[in-house]
Amino acid sequence: MDFSAIDEQIRTLESCIENTGEISADEKLFVGVDLGTAYIVIVVLNSKKEPVACAMEFAQVIKDGLVVDYMGASRIVRKLVAQLEERLGRKLTHAAIAVPPGTGKKDCTTHQYVVEGAGLEVTAILDEPTAANAVLGVANGVIVDIGGGTTGLSVLEDGKVTYVADEATGGTHLTLVISGNRRVNFEEAEKLKKQKDLQDEILPVVRPVIQKMASIVNSHIDGRNISAIYLVGGTCCLKNMEQVMEKEIGKPVYKPANPFLVTPLGIALNC
Ligand code: ATP
Repeated sequence: MDFSAIDEQIRTLESCIENTGEISADEKLFVGVDLGTAYIVIVVLNSKKEPVACAMEFAQVIKDGLVVDYMGASRIVRKLVAQLEERLGRKLTHAAIAVPPGTGKKDCTTHQYVVEGAGLEVTAILDEPTAANAVLGVANGVIVDIGGGTTGLSVLEDGKVTYVADEATGGTHLTLVISGNRRVNFEEAEKLKKQKDLQDEILPVVRPVIQKMASIVNSHIDGRNISAIYLVGGTCCLKNMEQVMEKEIGKPVYKPANPFLVTPLGIALNC
């Protein structure tokens, strides 16, 4: 699959973490809020659905897709919204949100309240891999979103989602293994994991966890006619993890240059 257009879009979004795009006073804006196990990310798009601003914070207020610290989550979302409003010189009024596949109605409502508490009306609640597909545009295959806490997947057939699943194994589990292996605390292990120059050494250490993620995918696609797997989510930034997944799954596995921001962008595209 040719990811060049997607990679270009994500690069623009990355640049919007530091820089703010020009918008007019009455221009329609599209906002996506990604409440994740590891990061809360907010993306703002202009009327042409091009990225103009992005803000994020590392936060441990969500666990396996469930809001475990309501006050903490609300505080961070309010803070990020205020930062973006100041940068853009505009009030943000609406947002789309996403939850892991299969999240219950009550838990979706809690996510919605967190975002509405920051003054944003929630226009859509999506599942994460489906949001990612607004960027990837996969017609047939499986989107696997590996975030901080969970491995979620959406099976697409002729452009329609025909099956979703989500299981608890994500980047946090990789960090815990690195922490044990290197005898460092969680925060230090998290830093080591993200260091590009260390990732060749780290891959063999965390291989069993990646194999577990692949086995989750295998258990859900068993018996289905799947042509390819598409990886998104921050955990898939790990260098060469797609090779481990491909070996375990036995099907082509693709990932864009920066899988981390695909889902937040897709959420905003659905606002
Ligand atoms: P979830 O989808 O499970 O609720 P989330 O939305 O917070 O969680 P993401 O933001 O997609 O998930 O990904 C967060 C995870 O990605 C964290 O475990 C983080 O350590 C990991 N991660 C982020 N950047 C990198 C990187 N460069 N290399 C390896 N892992 C990374």
